Amino acid sequence: MHQHTPEPIRTDALVIGAGPVGLFVVFQLGLLGVHAHVVDSLPHPGGQPAELYPDKPIYDIPGLPVSTGAALTQALWQQTRPFAPTVHLQDQVAEVQALPDQRWQVRTAAGLCFDCATVFIAAGVGAFVPKTLALPGIDVFVGQQLRYHRPAQMPAPGQTLLVMGDGDAAVQAAIDAAQGGAIVTLMHRRDAFKADAHRTAHLQALRETGQIRFLAAQAVGWQGMGGRLKALRVALPDGREEHLAVDQVWALTGLSPKLGALAQWGLAMERKQLVVNTENFQTGLRGIYAVGDINTYPGKKKLLVCGFHEATLAAYGAMAIISPGQTVHLQYTTTSTQLHARLGV
Ligand SMILES: Cc1cc2nc3c(=O)[nH]c(=O)nc-3n(C[C@H](O)[C@H](O)[C@H](O)COP(=O)(O)OP(=O)(O)OC[C@H]3O[C@@H](n4cnc5c(N)ncnc54)[C@H](O)[C@@H]3O)c2cc1C
Repeated sequence: MHQHTPEPIRTDALVIGAGPVGLFVVFQLGLLGVHAHVVDSLPHPGGQPAELYPDKPIYDIPGLPVSTGAALTQALWQQTRPFAPTVHLQDQVAEVQALPDQRWQVRTAAGLCFDCATVFIAAGVGAFVPKTLALPGIDVFVGQQLRYHRPAQMPAPGQTLLVMGDGDAAVQAAIDAAQGGAIVTLMHRRDAFKADAHRTAHLQALRETGQIRFLAAQAVGWQGMGGRLKALRVALPDGREEHLAVDQVWALTGLSPKLGALAQWGLAMERKQLVVNTENFQTGLRGIYAVGDINTYPGKKKLLVCGFHEATLAAYGAMAIISPGQTVHLQYTTTSTQLHARLGV
């Protein structure tokens, strides 16, 4: 649903998804002198590596014997800096419509409207959206006392924080908040964690010193007063209920990817992937490209290195639409003074 109807943002390129492949599209477009807008449903760039395996080692990036999801994201992000893309986070691309002049109008859930010469779908396995609490009415507190992503700011010392979840994000958030002086309860259905062994051991140590309370329970209701969330009603395994007073709730119970609206765009799909040609990774629609995990073609491999190749050819391919009639010569970043100027080096 659109909150408002703003003036369309006119752009040569819109990139859907700030995952590794979307970020590399931005970089390649930048080398070609094209500024891009980028939309991602997450509150940070990086897609799967940042969200699903930030601390895990990656061994198959050419020239990088080992990296991690977080380090690779940081490096890709830094690589886009010279080209200053406009990044719209925590928003989801919803609709696309053909415009009469062979351009595309793209709308987002938050109400942004883009008028684009080209669109790069780098949507991976879909928009990462958090699993939300199924407690009627509690959504009014989202972004204030209720968060589905860990906020940048920690609760003030002495504030009561309820963290929900059993993965790395939830356990680390509970540890950091407790060490920052908040009164932390970590809640999960049962006393077992998906978080890595190191974090789980750290959590255990803080539980033993009483710095974190663990509660095996599930939220079943809430209480508010004067527009503030006051408490959650939780059901314990033995059937009893408890009222947990809270200043903040961070429900970090995981993200699930949703292909959502993209599946309704009328693009040819095979097993939930967009069919592209391998010359320029264009879909069946002129000016709409699909790169990275979202696409399929004979021999497709869902690997970062393949996505980076696809991003490069798609960016070059799009120049025929962005700058028609202009011959795009291959230039090396090593030697081209034009590329050096664009890179600011
Ligand atoms: C545990 C694990 C380990 C892996 N290890 C390796 C490895 O060692 N080597 C390797 O090469 N690959 C590895 N991969 C695969 C690799 O992570 C993917 O190939 C890569 O992330 C694909 O990048 P992408 O940019 O296409 O998609 P993604 O990383 O999925 O990013 C897509 C982004 O698009 C956003 N998005 C989607 N739809 C919308 C929309 N409608 N509106 C707004 N935003 C949207 C999503 O929120 C997401 O941030 C691994 C994957 C996993 C899960």
